[in-house]
Amino acid sequence: MLTDQELLRYSRQILLQYVDIDGQLRLKNARALIVGLGGLGAPVALYLAAAGVGELHLADFDTVDLTNLQRQIIHDTDSVGQTKVDSAVRRLTAINPDISLIPHRRALDADSLAAAVAAVDVVLDCSDNFATREAVNAACVAGAKPLISGAAIRLEGQLSVFDPRRADSPCYHCLYGHGSDTELTCSEAGVVGPLVGLVGSLQALEALKLLAGFGEPLVGRLLLIDALTTRFRELRVKRDPGCSVCGTPHG
Ligand SMILES: [Zn+2]
Repeated sequence: MLTDQELLRYSRQILLQYVDIDGQLRLKNARALIVGLGGLGAPVALYLAAAGVGELHLADFDTVDLTNLQRQIIHDTDSVGQTKVDSAVRRLTAINPDISLIPHRRALDADSLAAAVAAVDVVLDCSDNFATREAVNAACVAGAKPLISGAAIRLEGQLSVFDPRRADSPCYHCLYGHGSDTELTCSEAGVVGPLVGLVGSLQALEALKLLAGFGEPLVGRLLLIDALTTRFRELRVKRDPGCSVCGTPHG
């Protein structure tokens, strides 16, 4: 059941036939893991909290630095020196005190990552490095949980959804398994704030669609955003039958 206050708070999305009261109830009962509370995780956490996703699991082992504030809009000047998780909890609680926030302040190893993934319905990879992305993907494939993956660096953004519950869906490793020779993070290569805001907002949107159950998710498609020219492109991505993460062991 939704309370009168909840009906009011979420009224503008309940108005949509795609969401309605049933969709809002699904959001209320949903749990999402957000890996990384930086430039991508900031809009993801803000929008999912505001939309009433009932349980947000927040994972980040870092503390807020002054250089983060240009793009990580969940944190503010008073947050500098605090853990990103504590800073995010303060802001998210101010936006929506009705949801539950589950903090993970330490780096997740293979076991704790598997447990964190098992405890939720959807995972949002908002991390900034290849090793974490690969580990999160492997945990999502093993746990059969949908993964919403976003990335942004300099003036380029990427977004895709990997859903191991679907036989036709590739996983992150199918697409990026060979690694990237430009293995740089935003702190090394630079990035503009609105671009990570855009990619993170799209990740939040894909999560709401998956959790409330409407629309067509970005599965099997890679969205490429060129912020310099404001151009969006889409590539088909196929599952790799020989993938060492999601492929059949016998190849
Ligand atoms: Zn794969």
